Amino acid sequence: MQPWIIRDTGTIKYITLPGWEAEGVALAFSTRLGGVSQGIHESLNMGLHVEDQDELVLENRRRLAAVFDFNLDAVVCCQQVHGNQVAVVGEADRGRGAFRLGDEIPGCDALVTVQPGIFLLSFYADCVPLYLFDPLQRVVASAHCGWKGTMGRIGRHTIDMMNRQFGTRPESVWAFIGPGIGAPCFEINPDLAARVNAEFTGWHDIINRDRQDRYTWDLQETNARILQAAGVMSRNISICSLCTVCQPDLFFSYRREKGLTGRMAAVLGLQY
Ligand SMILES: [Zn+2]
Repeated sequence: MQPWIIRDTGTIKYITLPGWEAEGVALAFSTRLGGVSQGIHESLNMGLHVEDQDELVLENRRRLAAVFDFNLDAVVCCQQVHGNQVAVVGEADRGRGAFRLGDEIPGCDALVTVQPGIFLLSFYADCVPLYLFDPLQRVVASAHCGWKGTMGRIGRHTIDMMNRQFGTRPESVWAFIGPGIGAPCFEINPDLAARVNAEFTGWHDIINRDRQDRYTWDLQETNARILQAAGVMSRNISICSLCTVCQPDLFFSYRREKGLTGRMAAVLGLQY
């Protein structure tokens, strides 16, 4: 378990892990602070799909990229369809999804690369970002874990892809589970609670039922256990338990703002 920090560049603030940076990994989860967007998107909105002005979003993305000294043409995004499909990307995919909607890698929620200088970018407002790094084979992967992707065990599918394509051994993998909707805030209906319990048999304490028969779900813990079941060592999993719903000063939240809000970004790439 490696400690995460919030770094203030003087322009923007983002969450990172110094232990990963020391291995030449560019890793960030942006906050909403330090951007140029206005109103419900104030201020570091990274999403082009949320009715913000494109030129403001691109300026925000450039500010985040500047921290790691890359240009937006080094970015690759996927479509994020709340599925569990994984794609491997490289040089040929440079710039996809970085400048406009519609040319992202379609139909998937996780990306894997071994190419230094390619930066995976994905977008969040309550869903859980998963970052994976194999320091032996030098593979990185990021996965968008909403409740549907979590039910589909996207974390395991991503590890499987790293293993098949690049020989990653799960016990070597480092994982970071970034900020998302916290367990106390993620209330779900009884039908979904039953489905979660059926999918993850024996993991009953990931769902909490209170005295008012209110069900809540710990998405971060569920994703941590999915990784452990795939062979990732618990000591190699770090979690940032900041709740995006509870921290309006730091984060956009889809649930808190009833859908009308901006997006944070997860950045992951190999510097060398
Ligand atoms: Zn919360």
